[in-house]
Amino acid sequence: MTPRKLTDLLKLSIHTITTKPWSVEEAVENYARAGVKGITVWRQALEGRKPETVGKLIRGCGLTVTGVARGGFFPAATARARQQAVEENRRALEECAALGAPVLVLVCGALPGQAVQKNLEQIQAGIEALLPHAESREVKLAIEPLHPMYADTRSAIVKIETANAMCGSIASPWLGIAVDVYHLWWDPDLEHEIAAAGEAGRLFCFHICDWKTPLEDLLNDRGLMGEGICDIRGIRGMMERSGFTGFHEVEIFSNRWWAADQHYFLKKIVEAYLAHS
Ligand code: ZN
Repeated sequence: MTPRKLTDLLKLSIHTITTKPWSVEEAVENYARAGVKGITVWRQALEGRKPETVGKLIRGCGLTVTGVARGGFFPAATARARQQAVEENRRALEECAALGAPVLVLVCGALPGQAVQKNLEQIQAGIEALLPHAESREVKLAIEPLHPMYADTRSAIVKIETANAMCGSIASPWLGIAVDVYHLWWDPDLEHEIAAAGEAGRLFCFHICDWKTPLEDLLNDRGLMGEGICDIRGIRGMMERSGFTGFHEVEIFSNRWWAADQHYFLKKIVEAYLAHS
């Protein structure tokens, strides 16, 4: 690989979960030193810390907070449990505001065994209950459609088409979509749906990694860009043609990479980003 200019990293962001063995303080310091420009903070990385302090640290190191992961998980068996889910999401929004994060990513949830339509209704009701709070805190909500293999427990929203339809139905400028190549690469309608989302001004986030073939683990075997079969550059092109100008967020859950030296992994992320994204 021929190294490119450092300016090519201007839109590179990394999710803290990607380097899970590091504390958020270590992640911030090491990302900044590697020339990474953004960071999406997972809520568990904030445990025992004041989000305001972490936000100051991030900005002090010259990084941009690109988002918080994650809220959602709206469907539940009882009205009380669904209300508790909304309250938990309100706490997540408070953390976003304190951290200075522009967007909260929503993994919308699914109650195993509950009909898809019922799950979708409960997701929509949860988002509608949350939106006034999001608007008052000036934090956007991004629905992240997940790969259909997670439809049983993690998200009844498995297609960007469904996310577009729900955003259209709710019609709030504070609600949009997180496009993750891992979840959406297989969709033959992807280009059309990304264009529709762009047209409506709802392309909020772009998550990248790769889909290894075969997967050794359905959750924690995501590949580094270039290790799998996703057309990451092609999907990035769809995003850019649809008006997206935001960060490219590296989000990798990988038992294999978490077991490696994280400084080496970070170096590989930067190289892979330049070569394959
Ligand atoms: Zn994602």
